[in-house]
Amino acid sequence: MKLDKLIPFNKPYINKKTYDLVSNSLDLKSTSGNGTYTKKCQDFFEQKYNFKKCFLTTSCSDALEMCALLIDIKEGDEVIMPSYNFVSSANAFILRGAKIIFADSEPDSPNISFDEIEKKITKNTKAVVLVHYAGLACDIIRIKEICLKKNIYLIEDAAHAIDSFYLEDNLKQSLGSIGDLSTFSFHETKNISCGEGGLLAINNEKFIERAEIIWEKGTNRSSFKRGEVNKYEWVDIGSSFLLSDVLAAYLYSQILDLKKIQSKRIKIWNKYYDAFKKNSLDKKLTIPKIKNYQNINGHIFYFLANNIVDRNFILNYLNKNNIKASFHYMSLNKSPYYLRNSSYTSLENSERFSDTLIRLPIYYDLEIQKVDSIIYILKNALEELATK
Ligand SMILES: *Cc1c(COP(=O)(O)O)cnc(C)c1O
Repeated sequence: MKLDKLIPFNKPYINKKTYDLVSNSLDLKSTSGNGTYTKKCQDFFEQKYNFKKCFLTTSCSDALEMCALLIDIKEGDEVIMPSYNFVSSANAFILRGAKIIFADSEPDSPNISFDEIEKKITKNTKAVVLVHYAGLACDIIRIKEICLKKNIYLIEDAAHAIDSFYLEDNLKQSLGSIGDLSTFSFHETKNISCGEGGLLAINNEKFIERAEIIWEKGTNRSSFKRGEVNKYEWVDIGSSFLLSDVLAAYLYSQILDLKKIQSKRIKIWNKYYDAFKKNSLDKKLTIPKIKNYQNINGHIFYFLANNIVDRNFILNYLNKNNIKASFHYMSLNKSPYYLRNSSYTSLENSERFSDTLIRLPIYYDLEIQKVDSIIYILKNALEELATK
C-alpha cells in the first residue's frame, strides 16, 4: 500500500482565530514588542505554568542567549549539556566564551544522564543546561539537588516541553518551572507556534529585573513605560530580543486552542505507542520507555531501530511510501564545528540515538485514519526487514 498523497512530517496549526487575532493586532496599530498580545501570552504562561516571570522572545535560541547573558558567562566558564541536542543551547554559551562540556544521554532515553553530570562537574562549572527530549521530563529533581549543592545554575531548554510536567506522588510541576531559567520555542515545528518565536521563563527572582533590561536592548525602557523613571537610558548590555506583537497575536490564537491541540497530539502519540507496545515486531524496533515521573505532551513520537543500517532501511521504506518520517540530532561531540576546536571523545548513548532514532509525523491536522496507514506501512517495513 502506497499512500497517494505525501504525509508531511509536520504542519503548523493555523485556524480562523489566528487570522482574526493577527488582523486585530494590525488594527491596534501597535506592532512592535511588549504590546497587548505579548502581555496576554506572558500572563497566560506565568499563571498556567507557575513561572515567576516570562518574556516573549524572537526565538528559543535568543531566550538561551539571554540566559547566557543573565548568568554572566565569562571566558573559560564550563557549561554542561547533552551532546544529543540542538545547536542553539551550545551556541548561546559559546558566544559568551564558555567551554561546552558534553554529557552523554541516559542509556534508555535521549535525556541527559544524571551520572554523567555528576562526573563532569568541576570547580569551573557555571551551569547545567538540560533538554526535556520529546517533552519527556529529565531526571530534573535529582539534577536540581546536585546543582543547588554545588552552586551551579540550572537551565531548562524546554523547547519540546510545553504543557508537560514532572510527576511526583500528588505533585505535578510544569517543566520549565524547576530550573533557575528556562526557555521555550514557538518555531513552526513545535506544538504551539507563531512561525518563529520563543519564551524566557524566570523562576529565580534575582534575574527578573536585569532580564527586562537585556530584553529591551540594555535600556530601562520598560521602567520608563510604566512611569517609574522620567527618561530611558542605556544601563546594561542587551539586544533586541522582543517578539513583534503581531506574532504574539498569532501565538495567542494557539494558546486559546492549546487544550484541543494537545489532546489531538496526545491521541496520535498514544496510537503509535499502543500499536508497538506489545511485541515490537521481532524486536526490530524499541519504543520509548516512559518513566514514572514523565507525562506525555505529544511533541515527538520516536522509536529506535537496532542499528544505522536498519534505521536507514525503515526511513527509506517510509519515505518511498509517501510518509515523511525523520531522524533527529547529530550528536554534537562529532560536529565539524566542535571538532575544529576540541578533541573527540565518544559518547556512546548520544551517538547511538543519532544513528537509530526515527520520528513519525505528528500534528493537529493529521487524521487518525492516516495514523492507521502509517502504522500499517511501518509494520510492513519491519516485516520486510525481518526477512532480509
Ligand atoms: C527548536 C529547538 C530550539 C530552537 O528553537 P528556535 O525557537 O528555533 O530558536 C532549541 N532547542 C531545542 C531543544 C529545540 O528543539
